[in-house]
Amino acid sequence: MSQIFSSIKEREEKFLLRSYSRYPLAIVKGKMSRLWDADGKEYIDLLAGIAVAALGHCNEELAAVLAKQANKLWHVSNLFYQEEQLELAEVLLSTTHHEQVFFCNSGAEANEAAIKLARRYTKKVKKRDAYEILTLEGCFHGRTLGTLAATGRQSLYDGFEPLPEGFRQVPINDIKAMEKAITDKTCAVLLEVVQGEGGVVPLASDYLKQVEALCRQKDILFICDEVQAGFCRTGCFWAFQNYGLKPDIISTAKALANGLPMGAMMATSEVARGFVAGSHATTFGGGALASAVATQVVRIMLRDELAKRAAKLGTALMQRLNDLKIKLPGKIKEIRGLGLMIGIEIGENCPQVWQELLKRGYICSLSHNVTLRLLPALTIDEADLTSFADTLADILKTF
Ligand SMILES: *Cc1c(COP(=O)(O)O)cnc(C)c1O
Repeated sequence: MSQIFSSIKEREEKFLLRSYSRYPLAIVKGKMSRLWDADGKEYIDLLAGIAVAALGHCNEELAAVLAKQANKLWHVSNLFYQEEQLELAEVLLSTTHHEQVFFCNSGAEANEAAIKLARRYTKKVKKRDAYEILTLEGCFHGRTLGTLAATGRQSLYDGFEPLPEGFRQVPINDIKAMEKAITDKTCAVLLEVVQGEGGVVPLASDYLKQVEALCRQKDILFICDEVQAGFCRTGCFWAFQNYGLKPDIISTAKALANGLPMGAMMATSEVARGFVAGSHATTFGGGALASAVATQVVRIMLRDELAKRAAKLGTALMQRLNDLKIKLPGKIKEIRGLGLMIGIEIGENCPQVWQELLKRGYICSLSHNVTLRLLPALTIDEADLTSFADTLADILKTF
């Protein structure tokens, strides 16, 4: 551990509340899919700030928009009309069948907005006294009290109870369990098409279609959490589009403004009737600065057809990894993913493999201590993915 890093770590422990266990790395600079640490060492970044910097770190086009907007208007609150919000809304809604959007600042907030809209639409428009939202085991929807209750992971509850009621988890890919769980108190099903924090777990295609059909049959809302899988990562602009689904509501965030905090919840105009003026609000949501940058993010993704690129690069990398799995029997347990959202389940050696990758200059995430999770920028050079696969092969041979 270098002197520079040690002193940074020491200050962190002194001044910041103990809530993160961090990787042993202090990042000081980034450029597209490269990062540099405090000692000047260069890394290939396969994590992109957890699927946030989808267009790369310090993307030049975005930096130019940010600088221009920084000299025009930052924030005036939602008491005013702002052209920047409308431009973003128009381009964002052009990517989906949804008709209206609510802007906020994070994934958890987007899910909170989705949860509130589902409840209020059911109560006020459908006139049904139902509030319960069904979610899936292994899901992740955020860390606010409401989204934590939706997440249903007991280990994250420690010391925080009571959590809001009205959430229940059912096993994944089990349509019978879902059918049994729906009661006259159920107002919606909320799920990630590809579970991210759960370790990159794509749900079965048939199951997703069955859940949607079940929601229609029972007249309850179908909500997709697109916070991580959205924004071209899985090969379509939205992950649900891979399966021809039509969720009533989606929540989004991570890549929306490429690193400026921003979230959005989108709904069909029918379901959007659940909110009236005053139903929901946020001070920062849809601020001019973040909106201007996000508008450019979406435009670039559409212009450069990054969904197609993610599908192509993702398929090629998965192929390489699957070849590796066959070539080195027993070293890789499972490869899962869709597009550029890829999980490599290694098993008990995973922390050492992850550590060795870091030593050799590759950043990915260590999920549940058994899976390497890759969420690279959609703009990453294919050569970086190839060299990652070669380096992983080299490391695995020694374990
Ligand atoms: C990251 C994430 C969230 C929470 O987003 P925050 O911005 O951290 O609040 C919610 N859902 C999914 C699927 C996520 O990956």
